[in-house]
Amino acid sequence: MKKIIACILIMLLVCGCSQNGKSSSTQLFCMDTVMDIRIFGENSEDALQAVSDELYRIESLLDRKSDESDIYKLNNQKEAGIETIKLLKDLLEVSEKTDGAFDVTVAPVMDLWGFYDQNYRVPEPDKIKNALKSVGYRNVVHKNSGVSLLNNAKLDMGGAGKGYASDKAVEILKEYNIESAMLNLGGNVYAYGKRTDGKLWRVGIANPFNGNANEIITVDVEDKAVVTSGGYRRYFEENGREYHHIINPHTGYPAESDIKSVTVISESGTYADAYSTALFVMGSEKAVEFLKTSDIDAIIVCNDKTIYYTDTISGALSISDGFYGKEINKNT
Ligand code: AMP
Ligand code: MG
Repeated sequence: MKKIIACILIMLLVCGCSQNGKSSSTQLFCMDTVMDIRIFGENSEDALQAVSDELYRIESLLDRKSDESDIYKLNNQKEAGIETIKLLKDLLEVSEKTDGAFDVTVAPVMDLWGFYDQNYRVPEPDKIKNALKSVGYRNVVHKNSGVSLLNNAKLDMGGAGKGYASDKAVEILKEYNIESAMLNLGGNVYAYGKRTDGKLWRVGIANPFNGNANEIITVDVEDKAVVTSGGYRRYFEENGREYHHIINPHTGYPAESDIKSVTVISESGTYADAYSTALFVMGSEKAVEFLKTSDIDAIIVCNDKTIYYTDTISGALSISDGFYGKEINKNT
């Protein structure tokens, strides 16, 4: 079914992209989300097609449900291509730097909670305990040019795949000499170059308290990924409690975070995506300490409406009334 939807959307892209000679845009369904691509400049039509192809290629590389993907192969003790191995290496670095708050081996726990088959349920504690035996980024071992998974570990790239896809899309934009584009890969934004009027892109960060109905922060950027994670983005309810999709890999339960949403701003979409997930898991106290000594820029919206942001981006931000901004001073 997904493939059929994808084909229809590709058709829309070819036949129906909005164009005024200098821009092309489309929406496509890829990596389980709606992606919105806008490209400006002479080459925009060809670039749009190439970017779309690239996004579907990354989807088929990382989708663990598809038996042709590299992740499926690794999860079934087969070999994967060099590109996926390199990505895993980069992500293991994030796991190490965040004490395992980000961990691509959360797959068995995600499955237990029903986030894989959409049959949501609260698992029995024993089942979580058992699944946790396979969870842990140290189970991903790089040997020679390959990777092996120990202790029956299974990979889930949901925490960084879209960010990686945005980086690959940016590579294509460069190949096509594009100077201005806005990519929104289901909440993973990449603001490429400047707007056509020469101004910076203004990216809005949605209000996590009212289901994204309005923006509470704007940030002015160029050549930056702006990636938001939050429990409110995907969750289910059981017996009056909400259970969201960002797992604390140490407990196997949805992370008990006082953060409503966290947005990371970085030149790298991959890192922005991975670190936004990790900072959410950490909770605000740890996340603020972490940000003081790292080169990551972030905006953290807490449950109590405090908004922490790194001082390095303070000039680019505008925060709505009713929220309390607090600067994080970098020690570096
Ligand atoms: P994001 O929306 O980028 O924060 O990523 C959430 C998705 O990443 C989930 O739907 C899972 O597929 C996966 N995931 C959940 N918890 C973690 C974690 N602690 N580390 C890495 N990936 C995770
Ligand atoms: Mg992420």
